[in-house]
Amino acid sequence: MQRLQQRLHESQWWTPGQLRVAQFRQLKTLLRHAASVVPFYRERLMQAGFRAGMVLDEEAWSRLPVLTRAELQAQGEKLRANVLPARHGRTHEIRTSGSTGQPVRIRSSDLAQTWFRAIGLREALWQGRDFSGRFAIIRKLDRTDEALPPDGDQAPRWGDQSTYPFSTGPAFRLSLMASVRQQADWLLRRDPHYLLTYPSNLAALAGHCRDAGIRPASLRQVLSIAELLPPETRALVREVWGVPIADVYSCKEIGYLALQCPLHEDRFHVQSETVLLEVVDEAGRLCAPGEVGRVVATPLFNFAMPLLRYAIGDYAQFGEACSCGRGLPVLARVQGRVRNMMIGPDGARYWPSFGSRRFRELAPVRQHQFVQKSFERLEARFTVERPLTPEEEQALRAHIQTKLPIPFQIDFVYLEEIPVSAAGKLENFMSEVAPPPAA
Ligand SMILES: [Zn+2]
Repeated sequence: MQRLQQRLHESQWWTPGQLRVAQFRQLKTLLRHAASVVPFYRERLMQAGFRAGMVLDEEAWSRLPVLTRAELQAQGEKLRANVLPARHGRTHEIRTSGSTGQPVRIRSSDLAQTWFRAIGLREALWQGRDFSGRFAIIRKLDRTDEALPPDGDQAPRWGDQSTYPFSTGPAFRLSLMASVRQQADWLLRRDPHYLLTYPSNLAALAGHCRDAGIRPASLRQVLSIAELLPPETRALVREVWGVPIADVYSCKEIGYLALQCPLHEDRFHVQSETVLLEVVDEAGRLCAPGEVGRVVATPLFNFAMPLLRYAIGDYAQFGEACSCGRGLPVLARVQGRVRNMMIGPDGARYWPSFGSRRFRELAPVRQHQFVQKSFERLEARFTVERPLTPEEEQALRAHIQTKLPIPFQIDFVYLEEIPVSAAGKLENFMSEVAPPPAA
């Protein structure tokens, strides 16, 4: 781990050109492996015109078709390597719960997991975290009988010795099965320096704490994972608890894709040492900085199940080089999933925000979710503390209307609880309108 950190410490300052050379060197090894021991790629690489000994440059690479999630689901077995180089260690299975309800099985290796942990530690170092502090985690856990409220569970360290090869403070865990009120009570009792959770849970928790006047005294920073972090949640957390958020961009199939810049909240650095991340247009060509396209990623160290140009399902855009001096490419914005995209009648795409920070000023709503039902109709789902008055409904509707990129008829629906996805996430916006075919 120390050796990997030393390498990462140096390579973050490499120029984009140096990073590219190192990536393509690793890519070549990965391709040779995939072509010889992965049945799916033996075929696909041959069809795409890849030959042993050919020059692998960006032009050649861009001829390789994107791997879709549907292909990954259908071809899972054929994507597994028949043999793994000995120094990659054992293989592991990672199950993604699949936020759309369709799980995917990924094979990973000891080596890929070691790199994963190394990037995790880099994140903590970038953020200048104090390892002697108390670390609190509220998340969905694999087992439903783990870390239950009111007390959750605890460990003497943040993680194992191979991830943190030095002493750390204690870690506390609480299952996401805890209610928001239970979470707030737990937070006060544990009084952590750091809190890790999902943005949707964070928004509910911080909202509750604002109303109840709760501030965990020692809290220094919040870590946000697994979902897109709305800017309003960042603002809410700063307002209520007075602390910043460190956000990471990751996906279960691949792991870390990009980390928030240590100096700038509004941008991410791609973790180019372990993943080749591309933003491509509908035709598969690379987008220019500022141009929104599909995120296509190739993990460079997972030889157990190579994913070459895998379309994660997000849209994003690259930004200009960062003033912090790191050569790692900048993702200026991650726009989210296809199903979280609003579609206009002319096919235009939007990732809307609904001005939810103001909701509580207008009406006693707890949670919200918007669903685009058609080009004309938007369903607004709320959980509320008490039935809203007609005036409150009117104020809320008028406020939401001003935030929408295109006009909608808004239908209010009140629910006991807003259902979360299979991955335990509350999605604030979903579209039931099919995107244009090319997307
Ligand atoms: Zn930077």
